[in-house]
Amino acid sequence: MSPITHSRRVERLVQGQDTQDGAGVRLTRVLTHDLQARLDPFLMLDAFGSDKPDDYIAGFPNHPHRGFETVTYMIAGRMRHKDSAGNEGLLQNGGVQWMTAGRGLIHSEMPEQEEGAMEGFQLWLNLPAKNKLCEPGYRDIQSQDIPEFTAADGVGVRVIAGESHGVAGAVQRDDTHPIFLDLHFPNTHNSVFEQTLPATHNAFVYVYRGGLEVMHGDETTTVPVQRMAVLRNEGTRAVLRAEANTRAILIAGHPLGEPIAQHGPFVMNTREELVQAVDDFRAGLMG
Ligand code: FE
Repeated sequence: MSPITHSRRVERLVQGQDTQDGAGVRLTRVLTHDLQARLDPFLMLDAFGSDKPDDYIAGFPNHPHRGFETVTYMIAGRMRHKDSAGNEGLLQNGGVQWMTAGRGLIHSEMPEQEEGAMEGFQLWLNLPAKNKLCEPGYRDIQSQDIPEFTAADGVGVRVIAGESHGVAGAVQRDDTHPIFLDLHFPNTHNSVFEQTLPATHNAFVYVYRGGLEVMHGDETTTVPVQRMAVLRNEGTRAVLRAEANTRAILIAGHPLGEPIAQHGPFVMNTREELVQAVDDFRAGLMG
């Protein structure tokens, strides 16, 4: 069999839901609650993109998190982060903030611009039960510190996490082993990118410019802009063929296979642990 027959097919296409969060930031929730079990270890993916300040200016004032990690990828714009552990950083064009909430912290994420475009993603990555109450951690990764390479057909690859074609990403994580790639296809049609995926990983692709096809031999499935394709768990690679200037993120991770209990910004394994999280927050024990 040729390698392409081991490539993953599309299981379903998902259109994000327009919503608001924080103090009224408009965003598209791409990975919603009902997909958490299917896309374990990922809990949420929000896409934000607007050049209208009213859509983003209110930001995300102080709020808590416990039990998982937030990964914010800023494609355009500037956002200031401050948290109760004393961390502060400016997230801007092409940079990533990787925050491990662990046992809990309180933070704010506020735009540091009053005009212009703001565009990016926030991904929530679960922590295994054994680490949900770990010490909080935080990394600001500037754009120039994200490994990049050019793959066949001139496809630019930014390796935020995991590995692609032997290039290690900025972040490696135990247990969930996330792969997070930002793919910039060139200004020619039908360029093809292949990514190896561990057979056990849950995986999805989200197209934020242009459009692409997920290929499986002669069978292709079109993924239009602003759609997420959930990839079937059969096969050890993804093969993507794009129209000119397409941009997409490819995300995959090893499922934890543990119960998921969520109450807003707290994600634990049981209802009792959620009650404890709310109590701890009210008692001022998160930072
Ligand atoms: Fe937050």
